[in-house]
Amino acid sequence: MITTTVWGSRGSIPVSGSQFHRYGGATTCLELTLQDAQGLTPSRILIDCGTGLTELGKEWGDRENQILLLQTHMHWDHIQGFPFFRPLFQPDAELTLWSTPREGCTFQEQLSQQMCRPAFPVGLDILPAQLNFVDLPESGEQQLGELTITWADVDHPSGNTAYRLDYRGFRVVFSGDVELPHSPSSRENLLALAENADLLILDAQYLPSEYPTRKGFGHSTPEDAVALALDAGVKQMLMTHHDPSHTDAQLDSKQALAQQLATGTDLCVRNAYDRLTVNLSETNAHKACA
Ligand SMILES: [Zn+2]
Ligand SMILES: [Zn+2]
Repeated sequence: MITTTVWGSRGSIPVSGSQFHRYGGATTCLELTLQDAQGLTPSRILIDCGTGLTELGKEWGDRENQILLLQTHMHWDHIQGFPFFRPLFQPDAELTLWSTPREGCTFQEQLSQQMCRPAFPVGLDILPAQLNFVDLPESGEQQLGELTITWADVDHPSGNTAYRLDYRGFRVVFSGDVELPHSPSSRENLLALAENADLLILDAQYLPSEYPTRKGFGHSTPEDAVALALDAGVKQMLMTHHDPSHTDAQLDSKQALAQQLATGTDLCVRNAYDRLTVNLSETNAHKACA
């Protein structure tokens, strides 16, 4: 079984207030747990360090402190939760951080720039936790015990890495930020990664009416997301990276549009929201929105 928990589903900046209550306002962070993982197979994988990572850290509890973190890219909304992630301040914690260098800058360098005076008083070099940075090529595949991680670059300002995780017959894919109409080649990359995925979590930040004035910003619409999911044969999709201006009511409308577009197909589509958990198991993997 793979359990996916959304800790942050907002794009650009975190938001709060009664208009954002149901979907939440933390920026991108996901937690995936692999049931019965043994040996070289990691039992817990985190994706991205938006402010949702801080929320996860507050509720870390007795989770194991051996952590694999996959980073999609280094925009603020994907790194700002890192300095406040509670396990970083625990000496027994060990984080392995995968990322593709961007604009000649490694993830370690980017985090170091974020965590130095006068911006922040605690530098990476004095954190109690052990950090192991791994620089990835633009695309690749790696086996970790029973888990296979495949990644590819997709279109976004300064680039973005989409990840696929395959474990015991279940497939989960996270796009990160992507502008699907902007680059046919990145759509092809994502299409290949998402083929027959049990769960695809995909950027669908803008309403179709908003996209024309936001071309080149690096994000997609529900129309783009549903079309890709249908072409890839995806079973279940969560739309994420919600625009910070979108209220609960507007996100309801976005979801209704996507569900209308998927009517008559086997695709189940809905909005991600903070603290949403999706369990993929033998008994529910093929049920819509299980
Ligand atoms: Zn983003
Ligand atoms: Zn971005």
